[in-house]
Amino acid sequence: MEKKIKKYGLLGFSLKHSFSPAMHNAAFEKFGINGQYFLFEKKNSQLDEFLKNLKKEGITGINVTVPYKEEVLSRLDWVSEDAASIGAVNTVVAGPKGLLKGFNTDWTGFLKEIKDFGRCKNAKVALLGAGGAARAVSYALVREGAQKLVIFDINSSKAAALAKDGQRWAAEKNLKIEIKKIDNLGDLNLAEKDLLVNATPMGLKEDDPLLIEKNKLHPNLMVYDLIYNPSLTKLLGAAKEKGLKFVNGLGMLVYQGAQSFLIFTGAQLSLEEVASVMRGALLKELP
Ligand code: NAP
Repeated sequence: MEKKIKKYGLLGFSLKHSFSPAMHNAAFEKFGINGQYFLFEKKNSQLDEFLKNLKKEGITGINVTVPYKEEVLSRLDWVSEDAASIGAVNTVVAGPKGLLKGFNTDWTGFLKEIKDFGRCKNAKVALLGAGGAARAVSYALVREGAQKLVIFDINSSKAAALAKDGQRWAAEKNLKIEIKKIDNLGDLNLAEKDLLVNATPMGLKEDDPLLIEKNKLHPNLMVYDLIYNPSLTKLLGAAKEKGLKFVNGLGMLVYQGAQSFLIFTGAQLSLEEVASVMRGALLKELP
């Protein structure tokens, strides 16, 4: 008899433009796993009920996205050390007795990409944004031995909170890193930086302004924009024009997805195998 299909999905609100179903369903199909990935668009008032009934509803694992990555933490039975430090969970599995375990694969997704580019250890980094994604990026940079991190967010208290957490993460592992926030983008000294990361939503829309003056982009600077749609934001376009190394957020999305998939299924597959299938599915979906 054929085994019952295992349900997975994405929890968030709203979910109109999610590429996660395409990525995960392609991997289920390719690796012969009897699973299907759905979208679970829930209001805040529905969260408790939804999480409590995961197992009963036959849902084995979920990804979590905006605005619930922080919200779900307190509702889980166990949270990985990294997810607890970052303060955000993007992957939840329901164990045999319905116990919920939470993980964060955003930071390892970013780390995998940035390590491949060799811009992590000893790097001097400028980070735009101090939201959920920026927290995952900062955690990866601190843990991987970046030398300096300067954070700017229009919300200065968010930047201050992230800088403080960054110092705590470093202290916990006996790592040395200089971290500060700045209140004016004009004060950002890019000349001494190796890496500029955009973790704000600026660049999603065509008429969004370019946050960085073009003349501040120098040949030794790599530009990483977490946005993957459009694939070439104004910022990346400027980096390209100036001949800089640049990358968009597609790789981070793919690697966080592949790592979640391995946590969900426990499949004995390599990260690269899964990532490659997910990347193919994603490229078919993107405009
Ligand atoms: P978020 O939690 O809303 O954080 C965005 C932060 O940027 C907020 O603190 C926001 O401040 C700040 N901000 C907005 N406009 C700004 C500006 N002009 N200058 C400086 N800071 C500004 O969002 P998120 O979840 O971190 O996502 C951020 C971006 O990363 C999005 O574009 C998202 O698509 C992308 N992302 C990509 C991946 C991937 O896998 N590639 C994963 C996660 C996120 P306010 O709160 O005051 O508006």
